[in-house]
Amino acid sequence: MKEKRSPSQLEALWKESDMAGGERVDAMVMIMRTNGCHWVKHGGCTMCGYREASLSNVTEDDLQRQLDQALSRYKGEPFVKMYTSGSFLDDNEVPPAMRERILDAFSGCKRVIFESRPEFITPDTVGSLPSNVTVALGLESSNPDVLETSIHKGFTPSDIQRAGTLLKDSGLGVRTYLLLKPPFMTESMAISDTVESARFADPFSDEISINPLNVQRATYVERLWKRGEFRSPWIWSLIEVFRQLSGTVSSRLISSPSGGGAMRGVHNCGSCDRAALDAIERFCYTQDPADLDVSCGCVDRWRAYLRSEEILGSPADLDRDFENELVLRI
Ligand code: SF4
Ligand SMILES: [Zn+2]
Repeated sequence: MKEKRSPSQLEALWKESDMAGGERVDAMVMIMRTNGCHWVKHGGCTMCGYREASLSNVTEDDLQRQLDQALSRYKGEPFVKMYTSGSFLDDNEVPPAMRERILDAFSGCKRVIFESRPEFITPDTVGSLPSNVTVALGLESSNPDVLETSIHKGFTPSDIQRAGTLLKDSGLGVRTYLLLKPPFMTESMAISDTVESARFADPFSDEISINPLNVQRATYVERLWKRGEFRSPWIWSLIEVFRQLSGTVSSRLISSPSGGGAMRGVHNCGSCDRAALDAIERFCYTQDPADLDVSCGCVDRWRAYLRSEEILGSPADLDRDFENELVLRI
């Protein structure tokens, strides 16, 4: 039976490291329980499993208690990440007075980050934010058709461009998320889409974070995946995206793949996954493409996979459908 979750408790809290002000620092990550992303009521995005993580009737009092819990575990980390399962700037998730209290509590930090959909990023809300704020924007793709039909995002690339430019012009930080391999795309289409999207996002971003699609429970993508109509991207594809972008954009390129190495997440053959993910982690800090040098025999299988998909014109999971044989022969 599913455990009943209390609205006054944080969903999760952990410590990690990340970059702030050009150096690697300790970071605290707090995942808050809120009333959830308003877009979920319109069907949500095809890959998003956040509906599972949010509740209804989370009050300001509940949020205060979540803040108190976070503060009781806070050890002065210079970087604090405050995520909700939606938009921190949505008044229905975090009322303005509460938002101010949370931001005040971490006003001494070098850097704080939260996520928001662009419809909540207005001159008024941006004007009320302190200068240590970075806003994370889920652009996913700069192709309007991909956003509309494949992701069902409910906004356009221009909406994100407007929000990002407003944030930048106001002196705030911008981290833009891109989705590597939305559904219905072949692996090579996905690589090109992410590279083009990064070039689109670069002028209004400080960081571009590439999220390879991780199949989450109870999502439309999970249904495709179970039917063998979707394969999570290869780690080689993520490395290829970084190689193509390295030295050509001014934003810092990063990725912290969730579910990396698992069937639902970005993965290679299994035996090189750890080494490839470690290489990506190193690159995210150094930005040196030499750190992406990893070798494994499965790189040839990945190349064959790209060719096979193109010839067959299908994004179906060829690894599963053809047990590799057809892929290897093409
Ligand atoms: S906007 Fe973000 S939180 Fe909302 S449904 Fe889409 S991916 Fe999920
Ligand atoms: Zn391998």
